[in-house]
Amino acid sequence: MSRIHYTKPSITQLEIDYATDAAINGWGERCYEYIGRFEQLFREHLGVKHAIATSSCTGALHMGLAALDVGPGDEVIVADTNWIASAAPITYLGATPIFVDVLPDTWCIDPEQVEKAITARTKAIIAVHIYGNLCDMDSLMNIGKRHGIPVIEDAAEAIGSVWHGKRAGSIGEFGTFSFHGTKTITTGEGGMFVTNDDNLYEKVLTLSNHGRARGQTRQFWPDMVGFKYKISNIQAAIGCAQMERIGELIARKREVFEHYAERLRKIPGLSLNPQKAGTVNGYWMPTVVFEKESGITREFLQKIFREADIDARVFFWPLSTLPPFSTSTTSNPVAKSLCERAINLPSYHDMTKNEQDMVLAVLANAMQGK
Ligand SMILES: *Cc1c(COP(=O)(O)O)cnc(C)c1O
Repeated sequence: MSRIHYTKPSITQLEIDYATDAAINGWGERCYEYIGRFEQLFREHLGVKHAIATSSCTGALHMGLAALDVGPGDEVIVADTNWIASAAPITYLGATPIFVDVLPDTWCIDPEQVEKAITARTKAIIAVHIYGNLCDMDSLMNIGKRHGIPVIEDAAEAIGSVWHGKRAGSIGEFGTFSFHGTKTITTGEGGMFVTNDDNLYEKVLTLSNHGRARGQTRQFWPDMVGFKYKISNIQAAIGCAQMERIGELIARKREVFEHYAERLRKIPGLSLNPQKAGTVNGYWMPTVVFEKESGITREFLQKIFREADIDARVFFWPLSTLPPFSTSTTSNPVAKSLCERAINLPSYHDMTKNEQDMVLAVLANAMQGK
């Protein structure tokens, strides 16, 4: 049997045709054609006014935070359970990430902890929809409004997730997405900045073009120091094909999750990505969290999946426990506990039921044998 990978993209002839066309013809006056189309398709899908394609989600976050004037001395609140990409851009700007605990059921930022962490220096709150699970956006937007602090959505993992009729990433001051090869849609590497705010859009557009404003008629004339986080036309061509297939790609992720969930829901002592009333979960990453009482640990899970040649991944470590943030004095018991007894299951679009059943068999053995 060959190894079961945990993610890989779904690439069809459409992606190949568009990328080939971009590589052959997408130059000269056509050099932005697929980029423009990709942004338009993404805007339409999300239901937002503006979208700027970038080379990564990290870059999109960096520019968005810069446009909000986040800088030295400022604090930005973010959940402790996260990949470092959501926090790194805060430090690029000389600001300090403030790590708060997550909720035990959604594994997303705890609004109560957010409110407690607000100080005079708080410049923004980043809501990351982890593994496709949605943050409590109503509470967070409310807190942001009361304190006059913008709420940002890092929706890199939440394509396909919907909060009470609004797609993840379309609710906060701005949203960011990733099209890394592990995500629900891919361009190889790539990202997107989205917003409904005209001023913020103009600011990020200028920043994204090395500080050259849209109306500037002088050539090679930046009005400020900006960034270079552009996507290429060839990557955007793949993105266009993925966006034409977005319904199918989201549906497939949800089907993969459902097949796991059908079996696993019957087993006591574990929980899966939740889908609360009024929301849709895009289920980017099916994840199992075992109850403490089960005695099943991260190390044990890693061992049994390794032995079965299945690539299952560990739950995100609390960022405050990682070397770059060792000066962080916060202690977040939920974030710390979750990662000790959880595992991400393989979930690529083309995964067969048979492959999923092999994953389930390993879990079933784990529950019996330990
Ligand atoms: C993948 C991911 C990122 C990073 O995306 P890049 O495109 O690799 O920069 C940021 N935030 C979250 C939540 C992610 O899952």
